[in-house]
Formats: sequence, structure tokens, C-alpha cells
Amino acid sequence: MSEYNAKKIKGTSGEWNIVIGLEVHAQITTNLKLFSNGAADFRKEANQKLDLLDIGLPGTLPVINSMAVDQAIKTGLALNATINKKSIFDRKNYFYPDLPLGYQISQFKDPIVSEGYINIDISDDKTKTIKIERLHLEQDAGKSLHDQSPDKTFIDYNRAGVALMEIVSYPDLSDWVEAGDYLTKLRSILRFADTCDGNMEEGSLRCDANVSVRKANEPLGIRCEIKNLNSIKNLMKAIEYEAHRQVKSLESGNKVVQETRLFDTSSGKTKTMRSKEEAHDYRYFPDPDLLPLELTDQRIEDIRKTLPELPDDLKMRLINQYGLGAYDARVVSSDQDTAEYFETLANNRDAKQAANWIITNLFGKLNDIGKSIKDSPIDAKELGKLLDLINKQIISNKIAKEVFEEMFISGETAENIIEKKGLKQISNTDEIEGIVDKIISSNEDQKKQYQSGNSKVLGWFVGQVMKETKGQANPSVVNQVIIDKLKK
Ligand code: ADP
Ligand code: MG
Repeated sequence: MSEYNAKKIKGTSGEWNIVIGLEVHAQITTNLKLFSNGAADFRKEANQKLDLLDIGLPGTLPVINSMAVDQAIKTGLALNATINKKSIFDRKNYFYPDLPLGYQISQFKDPIVSEGYINIDISDDKTKTIKIERLHLEQDAGKSLHDQSPDKTFIDYNRAGVALMEIVSYPDLSDWVEAGDYLTKLRSILRFADTCDGNMEEGSLRCDANVSVRKANEPLGIRCEIKNLNSIKNLMKAIEYEAHRQVKSLESGNKVVQETRLFDTSSGKTKTMRSKEEAHDYRYFPDPDLLPLELTDQRIEDIRKTLPELPDDLKMRLINQYGLGAYDARVVSSDQDTAEYFETLANNRDAKQAANWIITNLFGKLNDIGKSIKDSPIDAKELGKLLDLINKQIISNKIAKEVFEEMFISGETAENIIEKKGLKQISNTDEIEGIVDKIISSNEDQKKQYQSGNSKVLGWFVGQVMKETKGQANPSVVNQVIIDKLKK
């Protein structure tokens, strides 16, 4: 196993280390907003059914959505974190058209969750622990739409007040690959816990990356924050670009200025959005409309009982129970639908074969049509029947792949396709002997070559039989029959 080493940047002055910390905003799976009865589904028509609180009308008061709190606790437990029995909601004051209250209700000094961690796989048999500093609850803002009119900005408040968890890591990540792996793992934990759908395209999971560079053993460098990365690919690209930019800047005698930057997906570059001088002073203070949030041990323990098996435990179980290798176990445990598919398929079958078919054949095909395993045209039971036909030697592996392709397109069962197309494997020795006799007798030269010690000719003969039977002859029977016949 090759050892994984974090990527470094080679500059003219030597090697630079990269330091990354991520701030992730995850929309909580719950029907209502964080402090109102407005609907949390922001996909609906703009500004329909807004609650009065979410558009900041005077006289309205926030009431905490207890399911959102439960979800934050559940996430905290899934992140191996401390659940704080007392947390405080603060007002984070700033003016922006998409923020009708003039402040965002968030948690600042006393978050609901602190000090957790996530393990990421840095090789097949090594993990790295990334510490999490905090998880706090906060409201989302509305959305300014600049592309609806040439001279006006429209605002959609559907998102205003939606419940978010902000999950902040320590600066423990050392390159863009680790950052990508961390976000992938975090997303998978959120999905297992069913506390956020993890859909980055729709914005229910968003990521800001803090990046700095330094020489080995030097203190942390000045960081830049890249805002609103909406895919794991863009997160990785943005960090890679940004780290190189900082090295170039430092080596040409300039400083890195602490600032907020944006990633431009078309150029692949980051650019300044606002500098620290323009940074907001948020004047945080406890929201006088909300009491401190207090949790009982009972509530926390009740939620702990609802936690499902999480990715790390699932992976270990797949290794122990099914004898899967670390790589297969990691891929299969990355989401619950894949794990469920695998466990149905592997039931009373060769687990290694089952994992292989999912990873190499099924994933490839699903990728082609952009579907997830949940919507696979071939379900685990039907694929299982195909594997049974291979293992009973009714069809060869090669034919099985053809049948699989056909099943994928037509949705027909393996048996039907094999029947209709006459693809059954020929294992009947008499039939194979007949074909072998015919081929040997019309290829005396090759026979002599074999008998004078050129064993490679065996493969040629096998090939001829396969050609003759359109790949349907059982290869091991064919091999044996040819060897026997050529001896004579
Ligand atoms: P702020 O309140 O300004 O956002 P935080 O202390 O909350 O600052 O840090 C935000 C994120 O930046 C965290 O994920 C943290 O790990 C990361 N971070 C802090 N210092 C550095 C640094 N020097 N280089 C890279 N990331 C950093
Ligand atoms: Mg921050």
C-alpha cells in the first residue's frame, strides 16, 4: 500500500504546506423555518406563503422549531461532538436587501454543539481525524435575483428564515483532496442521519473554504476565505488555485491580504469580493426575543437512540461480516442506498463478486444515464438472478455482461433475455468435443506446434471454439477438452 502524503506546493523558495478549514452550511431537513411556521421548501414559487416573521413585520416574535433543534443534536451526535445543554441565540446585525429583519438570528459564543470530529480515509488502511470546532443553528437569508431585469433586482424571500446548521472545522485539512474527502464524508454522515439532504446543486449544502500557506514548522499564515462553493469539484479546484496564487504572491515579495474571495468557475480563478477593511462589524448580542436554549439529558439520550448505523460503523461491518476489502467496503458504505443494494445482492452469494458487479458494472451504467442506484433499472433481486446464472455456469461472465447491458436497457429479466437470444452456455461435453474435433482436424499445423511444445497455441484453439460457439461454450470445459484431445 503506498503511503498517502498531503500535496505540497513547490515554489522557487522551496516547499509550501497548505492549511485549510471549512465552514459548511447545511439546510436542516424539517418542514418549517427555524423560527416561524413558514414552509421550508424554497423551491416553490417566489414569495408565496411567507410567514410574517420571515419578512420582518413589526410585532412578530420568533418561536424555535423544536425539530430543527433535534436535528442539530442528532447531527452533533453523528459528528462525535459535545452537545451543549445551554446555548444562546444572538443577533448578527448587518443590512442587506435579502435580510428583512436587519439581522440574522445565529449562535455566536455559545453554540448548540462543539468539539467533534470526522475521520476521512487517506488510503485504504489509514484514516485522518479532522476536528470540528462547532455546529451552530442559524437562519438563512433570502435571495437577490439580478438576472430577471436589466435595471432591477428582485428578491425572493422563500429562503429567508430557513433553518441552517453551520459546521466549522479546525484548520486540519492539508490539501484540496483532503478537503474534498472531508466534505464528501460530512455529506454522507448528514444523509445517513437524515438531517440534511446534502444537495449542493440546489444549495441545501454550501461550503466556504479558508485557505493559507506556510513553510514547514512556521506559524499559520494569513488566510483567504472563498465563499459559496457549490460542488465538491469546485471546492477542490478553488483551493488548488488559491494555494498556488498565495505561494506566487508571497514568493514575489507581496503579502497575502486577509479577504473574502469568490471562485469563478469559468476561468477557474478566485478573485477578491471584499477585503478585511470592508469587513462587517456584526455587533452580536443575545436576541432579547429568545430565551437561552436549554436541553435535558433525556432529550439528548432519546435522540441518540434514533441514530442509524453511520458510515464508519457500516464500513467496518461490511469488512467483518462479508469479508470485503477496505476499498470495496468504503465505496459500498458511502451511501445507504448502495449499502442496501449490496446487502440484498450479497445475501447467500459471493460478497466480493456482488461488490464488484456494483462498483464496476452497475455504477458505470448508472453514471452513463445520470441515475442513482435507487432509480436503477435493474434492482438487486434481478441482478442477483444474473449472478446465480453465472455461478451455476449457465452463462459465462462475458455473456453475463451482454445480458446485463440488455437488462439495463429493456428492463427484462436475465432469464428472458438468455432464453430469447439463445445465450445459454454450452457445458455439454459431447457437444464441445464435437466442435473441438472439427477444429483440430482442420488445423493440423497448429496441433503439431502444440505437440512440439508451443503451449501458446492452446489459447488460439480456445479462441476458435469460442468464435464457433459465439462465446457460449463454457471456457473451463473447452480448455480441458482441448488439452485432452491435443495430447492424442
Ligand atoms: P471567522 O470568524 O473570521 O470566520 P473562524 O475562527 O471562525 O474565523 O475561522 C473560520 C474558519 O477558518 C475555520 O474553519 C478555521 O478552521 C479556519 N482557519 C482559521 N485560521 C486559518 C488559517 N490560518 N488558515 C486556514 N484556515 C484557517
Ligand atoms: Mg466563521
